[in-house]
Amino acid sequence: MKNILITAGVHGNEIGSIFVAREIKGWLEGRGIEQVGVIPDVNIEAIEARQRENPVDGKDLNRIFPGDKDGTRSEVIAHDIFQKAKFYDAVIDLHTYGDESKCIPYMLTKLEYDFNEELCKKFSLRYAVQSLGAEGQLFIELSKIRTPSMIIEAGGANWLRNEIEVVKSALKRFIDGEETGKEVQFIREYDRFNPDGQGVFEPDVELEDIIKEGDIVGYLDSEPMKSPWDGIVLGYKTGGEYDPEEMSLVTVGFGDF
Ligand SMILES: [Zn+2]
Repeated sequence: MKNILITAGVHGNEIGSIFVAREIKGWLEGRGIEQVGVIPDVNIEAIEARQRENPVDGKDLNRIFPGDKDGTRSEVIAHDIFQKAKFYDAVIDLHTYGDESKCIPYMLTKLEYDFNEELCKKFSLRYAVQSLGAEGQLFIELSKIRTPSMIIEAGGANWLRNEIEVVKSALKRFIDGEETGKEVQFIREYDRFNPDGQGVFEPDVELEDIIKEGDIVGYLDSEPMKSPWDGIVLGYKTGGEYDPEEMSLVTVGFGDF
Protein backbone atom coordinates (compact mmCIF):
# COMPACT_ATOMS: atom_id res chain seq x y z
CA MET A 1 0.00 0.00 0.00
CA LYS A 2 1.12 3.52 -0.74
CA ASN A 3 1.45 6.23 1.88
CA ILE A 4 -1.73 8.26 1.87
CA LEU A 5 -2.68 11.33 3.88
CA ILE A 6 -6.30 12.18 4.67
CA THR A 7 -7.04 15.66 5.99
CA ALA A 8 -10.27 17.24 7.25
CA GLY A 9 -11.42 20.33 9.08
CA VAL A 10 -9.53 22.80 6.89
CA HIS A 11 -12.84 24.68 7.02
CA GLY A 12 -14.05 24.60 10.63
CA ASN A 13 -17.79 24.49 9.90
CA GLU A 14 -17.59 21.38 7.70
CA ILE A 15 -18.27 18.99 10.55
CA GLY A 16 -19.25 15.97 8.43
CA SER A 17 -15.75 15.76 6.97
CA ILE A 18 -14.24 15.75 10.45
CA PHE A 19 -16.53 12.87 11.52
CA VAL A 20 -15.48 10.86 8.48
CA ALA A 21 -11.77 11.43 9.16
CA ARG A 22 -12.08 10.54 12.85
CA GLU A 23 -13.91 7.36 12.07
CA ILE A 24 -11.39 6.36 9.42
CA LYS A 25 -8.60 7.04 11.89
CA GLY A 26 -10.15 4.67 14.44
CA TRP A 27 -10.74 2.06 11.73
CA LEU A 28 -7.08 2.25 10.66
CA GLU A 29 -5.80 2.00 14.23
CA GLY A 30 -8.01 -1.04 14.85
CA ARG A 31 -6.44 -2.76 11.85
CA GLY A 32 -2.88 -1.67 12.54
CA ILE A 33 -2.53 0.18 9.21
CA GLU A 34 0.27 2.70 9.58
CA GLN A 35 0.88 3.88 6.01
CA VAL A 36 -2.21 6.05 6.03
CA GLY A 37 -1.99 9.32 7.94
CA VAL A 38 -5.14 11.08 9.10
CA ILE A 39 -5.39 14.66 10.38
CA PRO A 40 -9.08 15.16 11.19
CA ASP A 41 -8.78 18.61 12.76
CA VAL A 42 -6.42 20.67 10.62
CA ASN A 43 -7.83 24.09 11.51
CA ILE A 44 -8.45 23.58 15.20
CA GLU A 45 -9.52 27.09 16.24
CA ALA A 46 -11.92 27.33 13.29
CA ILE A 47 -13.43 23.95 14.27
CA GLU A 48 -13.90 25.08 17.85
CA ALA A 49 -15.63 28.20 16.56
CA ARG A 50 -17.59 26.15 13.96
CA GLN A 51 -16.73 28.61 11.25
CA ARG A 52 -15.02 28.49 7.87
CA GLU A 53 -12.15 30.88 8.64
CA ASN A 54 -9.68 30.70 11.52
CA PRO A 55 -10.90 33.25 14.11
CA VAL A 56 -7.35 34.24 15.11
CA ASP A 57 -6.60 35.98 11.80
CA GLY A 58 -9.87 35.69 9.86
CA LYS A 59 -8.19 33.89 6.94
CA ASP A 60 -9.54 31.11 4.76
CA LEU A 61 -6.91 28.40 5.27
CA ASN A 62 -7.65 26.83 1.92
CA ARG A 63 -6.44 29.88 0.03
CA ILE A 64 -2.99 30.28 1.57
CA PHE A 65 -1.10 27.03 1.04
CA PRO A 66 1.86 26.36 1.02
CA GLY A 67 1.80 28.76 3.98
CA ASP A 68 4.52 30.66 5.81
CA LYS A 69 6.29 29.48 8.95
CA ASP A 70 6.72 33.07 10.12
CA GLY A 71 3.23 34.21 9.12
CA THR A 72 -0.13 34.56 10.83
CA ARG A 73 -1.79 31.64 12.66
CA SER A 74 -3.45 30.31 9.48
CA GLU A 75 -0.25 30.70 7.47
CA VAL A 76 1.68 28.71 10.07
CA ILE A 77 -0.94 25.92 10.04
CA ALA A 78 -0.79 25.87 6.22
CA HIS A 79 2.99 25.63 6.34
CA ASP A 80 3.02 22.79 8.87
CA ILE A 81 0.39 20.75 6.99
CA PHE A 82 2.03 21.33 3.61
CA GLN A 83 5.45 20.25 4.89
CA LYS A 84 3.91 16.97 6.12
CA ALA A 85 1.66 16.44 3.10
CA LYS A 86 4.36 16.74 0.46
CA PHE A 87 6.03 13.49 1.56
CA TYR A 88 2.94 11.36 0.92
CA ASP A 89 2.15 9.51 -2.31
CA ALA A 90 -1.38 10.95 -2.38
CA VAL A 91 -3.36 13.46 -0.33
CA ILE A 92 -7.14 13.47 0.07
CA ASP A 93 -8.66 16.57 1.65
CA LEU A 94 -12.23 16.13 2.92
CA HIS A 95 -14.70 18.99 2.64
CA THR A 96 -18.45 19.59 2.51
CA TYR A 97 -20.61 22.35 1.13
CA GLY A 98 -21.39 25.18 3.54
CA ASP A 99 -24.31 26.09 5.78
CA GLU A 100 -27.74 25.65 4.16
CA SER A 101 -26.35 23.77 1.18
CA LYS A 102 -25.34 20.26 0.21
CA CYS A 103 -23.83 18.31 -2.65
CA ILE A 104 -23.48 14.80 -3.99
CA PRO A 105 -20.18 13.18 -3.08
CA TYR A 106 -17.69 14.15 -5.78
CA MET A 107 -13.97 14.43 -6.33
CA LEU A 108 -12.60 17.86 -7.17
CA THR A 109 -9.13 18.21 -8.60
CA LYS A 110 -6.90 19.53 -11.38
CA LEU A 111 -7.63 16.96 -14.04
CA GLU A 112 -5.00 18.28 -16.45
CA TYR A 113 -2.47 16.38 -14.34
CA ASP A 114 -2.56 12.70 -15.36
CA PHE A 115 -1.66 11.61 -11.85
CA ASN A 116 -4.81 13.26 -10.47
CA GLU A 117 -6.99 11.60 -13.08
CA GLU A 118 -5.42 8.25 -12.12
CA LEU A 119 -6.14 8.91 -8.44
CA CYS A 120 -9.82 9.57 -9.25
CA LYS A 121 -10.08 6.28 -11.17
CA LYS A 122 -9.03 4.34 -8.08
CA PHE A 123 -11.88 5.79 -6.05
CA SER A 124 -15.37 4.35 -5.99
CA LEU A 125 -17.13 7.70 -6.32
CA ARG A 126 -19.06 8.37 -9.49
CA TYR A 127 -18.04 11.92 -10.40
CA ALA A 128 -14.69 13.70 -10.76
CA VAL A 129 -14.95 17.44 -11.35
CA GLN A 130 -12.38 19.82 -12.80
CA SER A 131 -11.56 22.53 -10.27
CA LEU A 132 -12.07 26.19 -11.14
CA GLY A 133 -8.54 26.52 -9.82
CA ALA A 134 -8.41 29.07 -6.98
CA GLU A 135 -4.75 29.36 -5.95
CA GLY A 136 -3.57 28.47 -2.47
CA GLN A 137 -5.76 25.39 -2.04
CA LEU A 138 -3.95 22.40 -0.55
CA PHE A 139 -4.61 20.09 -3.52
CA ILE A 140 -3.69 22.74 -6.08
CA GLU A 141 -0.37 23.59 -4.47
CA LEU A 142 0.43 19.87 -4.00
CA SER A 143 -0.42 19.18 -7.65
CA LYS A 144 2.16 21.80 -8.65
CA ILE A 145 4.85 19.72 -6.97
CA ARG A 146 3.39 16.55 -8.56
CA THR A 147 1.79 15.05 -5.47
CA PRO A 148 -1.52 13.43 -6.52
CA SER A 149 -4.21 15.17 -4.54
CA MET A 150 -7.86 16.09 -4.50
CA ILE A 151 -10.74 17.34 -2.45
CA ILE A 152 -13.77 15.20 -1.78
CA GLU A 153 -16.91 17.32 -1.38
CA ALA A 154 -19.94 15.64 0.17
CA GLY A 155 -23.05 16.84 1.93
CA GLY A 156 -23.20 20.18 3.72
CA ALA A 157 -21.93 21.83 6.89
CA ASN A 158 -24.93 20.55 8.82
CA TRP A 159 -25.69 17.54 6.70
CA LEU A 160 -24.34 14.39 8.29
CA ARG A 161 -26.24 11.64 6.55
CA ASN A 162 -26.03 9.52 3.38
CA GLU A 163 -23.37 11.51 1.61
CA ILE A 164 -20.74 11.10 4.29
CA GLU A 165 -21.44 7.37 4.58
CA VAL A 166 -20.69 7.08 0.88
CA VAL A 167 -17.37 8.88 1.36
CA LYS A 168 -16.42 6.69 4.31
CA SER A 169 -17.01 3.52 2.37
CA ALA A 170 -15.14 4.86 -0.69
CA LEU A 171 -12.14 5.73 1.49
CA LYS A 172 -12.08 2.27 3.07
CA ARG A 173 -12.24 0.59 -0.33
CA PHE A 174 -9.46 2.84 -1.62
CA ILE A 175 -7.22 2.09 1.36
CA ASP A 176 -7.85 -1.63 0.95
CA GLY A 177 -7.01 -1.36 -2.75
CA GLU A 178 -10.36 -2.83 -3.79
CA GLU A 179 -11.55 -2.60 -7.37
CA THR A 180 -14.01 0.26 -7.68
CA GLY A 181 -16.38 -1.60 -9.99
CA LYS A 182 -17.42 1.77 -11.34
CA GLU A 183 -16.48 3.99 -14.19
CA VAL A 184 -15.72 7.54 -13.13
CA GLN A 185 -17.58 10.23 -15.01
CA PHE A 186 -15.29 13.19 -15.57
CA ILE A 187 -16.98 16.58 -15.46
CA ARG A 188 -14.49 18.93 -17.06
CA GLU A 189 -16.52 22.06 -16.59
CA TYR A 190 -19.05 23.35 -14.09
CA ASP A 191 -20.50 26.64 -12.98
CA ARG A 192 -22.43 28.11 -10.10
CA PHE A 193 -25.80 29.74 -10.72
CA ASN A 194 -25.94 32.89 -8.66
CA PRO A 195 -28.43 35.31 -10.15
CA ASP A 196 -28.98 38.80 -8.79
CA GLY A 197 -31.74 39.07 -6.25
CA GLN A 198 -32.38 38.47 -2.60
CA GLY A 199 -34.87 36.61 -0.50
CA VAL A 200 -35.55 33.20 0.91
CA PHE A 201 -34.75 30.34 -1.44
CA GLU A 202 -36.83 27.24 -1.70
CA PRO A 203 -35.14 24.64 -3.95
CA ASP A 204 -37.04 22.54 -6.44
CA VAL A 205 -34.25 20.18 -7.50
CA GLU A 206 -32.61 17.10 -6.08
CA LEU A 207 -28.97 16.12 -6.13
CA GLU A 208 -27.93 14.44 -9.39
CA ASP A 209 -31.00 15.70 -11.30
CA ILE A 210 -30.36 16.20 -14.99
CA ILE A 211 -31.73 19.61 -15.88
CA LYS A 212 -32.27 21.61 -19.05
CA GLU A 213 -31.83 25.28 -19.72
CA GLY A 214 -35.01 27.05 -18.56
CA ASP A 215 -35.97 24.41 -15.99
CA ILE A 216 -37.10 25.83 -12.66
CA VAL A 217 -34.50 25.03 -9.98
CA GLY A 218 -36.37 26.71 -7.12
CA TYR A 219 -38.12 29.82 -5.93
CA LEU A 220 -36.67 33.03 -4.54
CA ASP A 221 -39.45 34.68 -2.55
CA SER A 222 -41.91 32.80 -4.81
CA GLU A 223 -40.18 34.02 -7.99
CA PRO A 224 -39.23 31.01 -10.16
CA MET A 225 -35.48 30.69 -10.78
CA LYS A 226 -34.62 29.10 -14.12
CA SER A 227 -31.40 27.31 -14.93
CA PRO A 228 -29.28 29.09 -17.56
CA TRP A 229 -27.71 25.76 -18.57
CA ASP A 230 -28.19 22.08 -19.34
CA GLY A 231 -26.34 19.86 -16.90
CA ILE A 232 -26.32 17.80 -13.73
CA VAL A 233 -27.11 19.17 -10.25
CA LEU A 234 -23.95 18.67 -8.21
CA GLY A 235 -25.19 20.74 -5.28
CA TYR A 236 -27.72 23.32 -4.22
CA LYS A 237 -28.79 25.71 -1.54
CA THR A 238 -31.23 23.85 0.70
CA GLY A 239 -33.10 26.89 2.00
CA GLY A 240 -32.74 30.12 3.93
CA GLU A 241 -31.75 33.65 3.00
CA TYR A 242 -29.89 34.06 -0.29
CA ASP A 243 -27.07 36.53 -0.86
CA PRO A 244 -25.58 36.47 -4.37
CA GLU A 245 -22.31 37.91 -3.06
CA GLU A 246 -21.74 34.94 -0.83
CA MET A 247 -23.27 31.86 -2.39
CA SER A 248 -25.00 30.27 -5.34
CA LEU A 249 -28.37 28.60 -5.75
CA VAL A 250 -27.26 25.58 -7.74
CA THR A 251 -23.94 24.09 -8.87
CA VAL A 252 -24.28 22.61 -12.35
CA GLY A 253 -21.82 20.20 -13.99
CA PHE A 254 -21.61 20.09 -17.79
CA GLY A 255 -21.21 17.05 -20.03
CA ASP A 256 -23.19 14.19 -21.56
CA PHE A 257 -25.58 12.74 -19.04
ZN1 LIG B 1 -14.38 23.40 2.57
